[in-house]
Amino acid sequence: MAAQIISGVEIAKTIRAELKEEVAGLKEKNIVPGLVTILVGEDPASQSYVSAKNKTAKELGINSEQITLPVDTTEEDLLALVDKCNKDKKVNGILVQLPLPKHINEAKILYAIDPDKDVDGFHPVNVGKMVLGEQCFLPCTPHGILEMLIRSGIETSGKEVVILGRSNIVGKPMANLMLQKRKAGNATITLCHTRTADTDFHTRRADILIAAVGVPNLVKADQVKDGVVIIDVGVNRIGKTESGKAILAGDVEFESVKEKASFITPVPGGVGPMTITMLMKNTVQAAKQAAGII
Ligand code: NAP
Repeated sequence: MAAQIISGVEIAKTIRAELKEEVAGLKEKNIVPGLVTILVGEDPASQSYVSAKNKTAKELGINSEQITLPVDTTEEDLLALVDKCNKDKKVNGILVQLPLPKHINEAKILYAIDPDKDVDGFHPVNVGKMVLGEQCFLPCTPHGILEMLIRSGIETSGKEVVILGRSNIVGKPMANLMLQKRKAGNATITLCHTRTADTDFHTRRADILIAAVGVPNLVKADQVKDGVVIIDVGVNRIGKTESGKAILAGDVEFESVKEKASFITPVPGGVGPMTITMLMKNTVQAAKQAAGII
């Protein structure tokens, strides 16, 4: 039987409706969450991510400002802008869109963001708190995946979870969150990467397989077991339509794998909308924290 499709679009819609109501409630207390997104350069993918983030923020009633800087912006100037946003009381969340141009030290910029405004959850203070299981801003993509699992009623406790990819923004935090004693946690984790000796051995015994490698259609049907839950994080541009729109593929060969899986996320329309939604959730959380509500 073909898998049940987990629609990130639908789950995101539900969470966004909840957030919109929460933002309206905060406005009655004169609290308006504020988000600043900073984009350096003109990378088309980054431009579309940033404009989607701003559009969603506005729809939810979040005060959102997009700052676009030229590609030759110096590290010093970017640090000065981050510092200005850190000091601005109307700004609750600061997002610097990655990747940054090569001449700018990404870590230096991310570490300069006030941890209380780090709505991407990339600052070492938030990463450390996440590892310890303390209250913090969770990184948006893994956080979105946890919400998808919870809201789809997928049991994770005691399950074999295999994650492909060990990046700081997806694989590593995902592994960490799912092994914790928490909702959508308590799993046994295997984290694979390019040095893993026999990746297929691991993928074939996964109850839940999370693919975040950036290789189109890497995972095929013969590499998974019947009934597996597939979370496909990959967003790979594999071509363009006649009208110039990007054609996207995930890291998992959707058509064949969906015949074996019990649940599967599509690309697009799976993890992507959840990532943006969790950024909004973090921004609302930041505004509440700044107002002393939580
Ligand atoms: P990344 O930083 O490039 O990391 C890729 C990871 O995959 C690395 O750890 C790499 O291993 C591993 N890898 C590559 N080929 C592999 C293979 N054949 N077998 C096993 N592991 C392999 O990527 P990322 O930033 O995590 O992103 C991964 C994908 O998710 C990309 O397509 C990206 O666009 C997408 N993404 C989507 C969202 C969303 O919201 N939907 C958010 C973030 C990322 P090594 O460490 O050994 O090199």
